[in-house]
Amino acid sequence: MKKQKLLRWAIKQRKVIQVIIGVALYITIGYYHISLWYVLLFGAFTGVILGKVFCRWMCPMGVMMEFLMSMTPGESFRQTYQYHKLGCPIAWISGWLNRFSFYRISLNKDTCKSCGICDKQCYISTLNSAKYSIYQNGKERPGASFSCSKCLQCVSECPNGSLTYKFAFSPLKTEKQVSMKKK
Ligand code: SF4
Ligand code: SF4
Repeated sequence: MKKQKLLRWAIKQRKVIQVIIGVALYITIGYYHISLWYVLLFGAFTGVILGKVFCRWMCPMGVMMEFLMSMTPGESFRQTYQYHKLGCPIAWISGWLNRFSFYRISLNKDTCKSCGICDKQCYISTLNSAKYSIYQNGKERPGASFSCSKCLQCVSECPNGSLTYKFAFSPLKTEKQVSMKKK
């Protein structure tokens, strides 16, 4: 329970965390002349463990892009989606790793009330509702898709605490296969 409270607090502070890590990374890379290959390796490593967290929790460019996207609120979902579809080499690698990462967004079907709030918070399922859903059976889980940048808004906004971000490694089953089996 304590872990979940801490996670929700961290999600609410995500932008602050992103600015602090992003600026620190930018200064460290510039001051110590660290090769971008090491940054790429670091991004890939975080991708294996946590999925595509680099873009929205650590990236200096991501900080600027998020600021620019927030200037057009009506279009921010679409812009965020496009931005995270293209990305950079770190985003390509860690986005692909969303399917296989150790930590994933997990749904507790027993407590889910099918209210749909999570889907409305997610730019992927909002823009592709026929294909993606965080809670509906028979649809792909956006959390496993390339574009999920682990903003974790879905986890934070679920009123029943039915979504968590936790260690859920399963090399043989995709999120879709799991949801189809439960149908
Ligand atoms: S917000 Fe929570 S309770 Fe509502 S549909 Fe999503 S997972 Fe289920
Ligand atoms: S973390 Fe949740 S809300 Fe954010 S993009 Fe991924 S599935 Fe959507």
